[in-house]
Amino acid sequence: MSVDVDVVIIGAGAAGLAAGIGLQSTNLTFLILEARNRVGGRAHTDLETFTPIPIDLGASWIHSYGPKNALYNYHKSFDKDQTRTRPVGKRLRLDYNGQPFSSETLFHAKKIYSKIFQHLQLYSYNAKKDQDQSIEQFIQSKYQRLVPTDGPIKRLVGLFVSGSEQYEGSNFTDLSAKQYGIGSGSGGDRWVSFGYGNLLERIANKHNLPIRLNTLVIQIDTTDPERIAITISNDPAIIYCRRVIITIPLGCLKRDTISFVPSLPEWKHQAIQQMGMGLMNKLIVQFSQNFWDHNLRSFSHACNERRGRFRFTICIPPPANILILFVTGTFARELEILTDTQILEQVMKFLRQIFPRTTILDPINYKFTRWLQDPLAYGSYSNFAVHASPHTIEQLAKETSDGRVQWAGEHANIDDGTKDWSYACVHSAFQSGQRAAKTVRDQLCFS
Ligand SMILES: Cc1cc2nc3c(=O)[nH]c(=O)nc-3n(C[C@H](O)[C@H](O)[C@H](O)COP(=O)(O)OP(=O)(O)OC[C@H]3O[C@@H](n4cnc5c(N)ncnc54)[C@H](O)[C@@H]3O)c2cc1C
Repeated sequence: MSVDVDVVIIGAGAAGLAAGIGLQSTNLTFLILEARNRVGGRAHTDLETFTPIPIDLGASWIHSYGPKNALYNYHKSFDKDQTRTRPVGKRLRLDYNGQPFSSETLFHAKKIYSKIFQHLQLYSYNAKKDQDQSIEQFIQSKYQRLVPTDGPIKRLVGLFVSGSEQYEGSNFTDLSAKQYGIGSGSGGDRWVSFGYGNLLERIANKHNLPIRLNTLVIQIDTTDPERIAITISNDPAIIYCRRVIITIPLGCLKRDTISFVPSLPEWKHQAIQQMGMGLMNKLIVQFSQNFWDHNLRSFSHACNERRGRFRFTICIPPPANILILFVTGTFARELEILTDTQILEQVMKFLRQIFPRTTILDPINYKFTRWLQDPLAYGSYSNFAVHASPHTIEQLAKETSDGRVQWAGEHANIDDGTKDWSYACVHSAFQSGQRAAKTVRDQLCFS
């Protein structure tokens, strides 16, 4: 039996939930179709594997945390009386053998790093509109000139540099020098102690949104000007609507997981291909006892073989005894295709190298994410590949089919001219969903 509603929202991640909330104040009928058996998308909290500690497999920090952030009030209201699992304590920068860097090395490395990035910032301000190159290409000669041959300073500069690569989920070889630093918002970060995915689930429950889980959309047909026909897999019933808001990840758009009839305009295809999609994975390992300093909140590690390998680790103290290793870019891609046993071998080898004086028993529990292989994500979050720009994001967000198809998601959050503008984040996705809902409200309620 076919279903008829005013609006269909595809995806129940942050963008889809915000779009739904934005339509609730109207008389419009709407439905959110979600392929997974849960809401939250790339913000997903595992509440079972490491009980009683909630562990985020996707997003974990609310970036640009503050009253202007659309998720701030929700977080505040749910954060009351929560058990604190937020990592606290000191942060260390460790050399490849687990030794902290000396303050002298730190001093020199910081100076070099800031020179390299001032140089990059100048380029990003001054480069002509169509001029671009990869960050790696741009900084290469300066890097070679400023960074002395092998030694601790070189490793520490590499560690700083790989911090930016980690943030973007891609190596500098793939990132735009022209767009360096834009859209990263302002303000601090807030770790969601009860889980960022959990926060989104609570938001969905609070608003009692009409969400149909386990519903994979495979085709959107806009041929009929009166109604849009949406086909879902394993169900012959067509869902008809007047407007559709698409919030599926950029990674899915790149792989054409939904077919469009008629096909999308060329400018939309181009924007989809032009924007980059990064990869961040989390390798979560739990031990029966902790072998690191209880006061250690996180450590970053300078690899002597390759920049950015096992760069950053969060430490959750007893009784949880959990380490969360963040891996990104090419290294994350290489790890993803290995078996769990092979990944675990590499993790344990690394930890035993960092803590050489300790006997480290094998973990009692572990979980490794593989966001690139996830067919409902195909990556972690968007970034500016070489030649992508805020205009690319505008194209990704731009409506199609005479305004009947609206686009939202972390990759489609338009620069609103404020210093808080950001993409790639949960709150950016949320904002984009609010924007898409407003457009649909304006179209259907006030015309
Ligand atoms: C490891 C990792 C760490 C991260 N860390 C942070 C962080 O600390 N802070 C932060 O702000 N952001 C972080 N992010 C990014 C953040 O998670 C995303 O930017 C954000 O969650 C995206 O929201 P969205 O609504 O755009 O997309 P999604 O959350 O991906 O939602 C899209 C939904 O569409 C569904 N879908 C896909 N295809 C179909 C289909 N054909 N039919 C029906 N449904 C479909 C998907 O299942 C999904 O639920 C991280 C991401 C990862 C992976």
